[in-house]
Parts: sequence; structure tokens; C-alpha cells
Amino acid sequence: MKPPFRRAISRGLRFRCPECGEGRVFSSFFKMNDNCSVCGLSFYPESGYYAGAMYLDYMISAGIFLAIFVPSLFLPTFTRLTYLQKDLFWVLFGAALCLGMARPSYSLWLAIDFWIAPWKAEARPKKEDDRLEVPLVSLTIRSGDEHDSHEDSPRSSENL
Ligand SMILES: [Zn+2]
Repeated sequence: MKPPFRRAISRGLRFRCPECGEGRVFSSFFKMNDNCSVCGLSFYPESGYYAGAMYLDYMISAGIFLAIFVPSLFLPTFTRLTYLQKDLFWVLFGAALCLGMARPSYSLWLAIDFWIAPWKAEARPKKEDDRLEVPLVSLTIRSGDEHDSHEDSPRSSENL
């Protein structure tokens, strides 16, 4: 269901699922959940989905950077820093901005895209071990039934 625009933005800024507004988008500082834990909405509707979020991150960061950097050029010098030190400061400041704006950018990208063209939550939410399916199967074929499949790890093949 398409949320009103203001609600979509508000959910994006609070890092919540664009569909239900409850589930968290991030599981840790820079790690996104695959799906909403409440309604099952996929946060990765297609591969390469977040390339646009990186542009958004860049644009937001560049906007903030310029809004601070340009006025600072007109201020009288109040530090004894050399030009090199000032350059270094601005580079670090820009990098920190990009990192700091990454989370809001990714979350907003998801919120705005969902507002423009909502997609449906999958009937069966993806589980963490779906990604391991292929390697686990191939390990099982190679090693036969010598041990339980949940014991399988790359190291367990050293007795070949
Ligand atoms: Zn949700």
C-alpha cells in the first residue's frame, strides 16, 4: 500500500520499513536487513538497487559540504593551521559526511522508491540460510553422509 508522501519520508528518516512503518531497515550500523521483520517486505527488490542511494548520499553530502565550506571562505582566519592542514581537514570532513549520510540516504532511497512504485511483500520472507543453500548442497554431495549437514564448514573437508 502506498503511504502518503510525508509518512513515507518520516519512515525513511526513522529507518523504518516503508510498508508497515514498524520493522527496522538496519540490523547494525551499516548492515541492512534483507526483509522487514514485521511485514516481510523485501529491502532488496532487485540487484544493484542501492546504486542510486550512493548518488543520493553523494548529493546530500556535497550539498552540506558546500553549505559549510563556501561561507567559511568569507570568514576571517581564526586558526593557525597551514593550507595543507586545512585541506586535510576538509577532505576528512567530506569523507565523514559521506559516511554519516549513508544510512539516511539508503533509508530515504528505499522510502521514496517505495512511495513512487510500491512492491508487494513476499509470501515467504527470505531466511538467512537461503544464501548458503548452494554451497551446503555441494558439500553434502562431496562428503557423502559422513557427518551432519549443519557441521559442514570449509574446514571439515580436510579429511579428503
Ligand atoms: Zn514492514
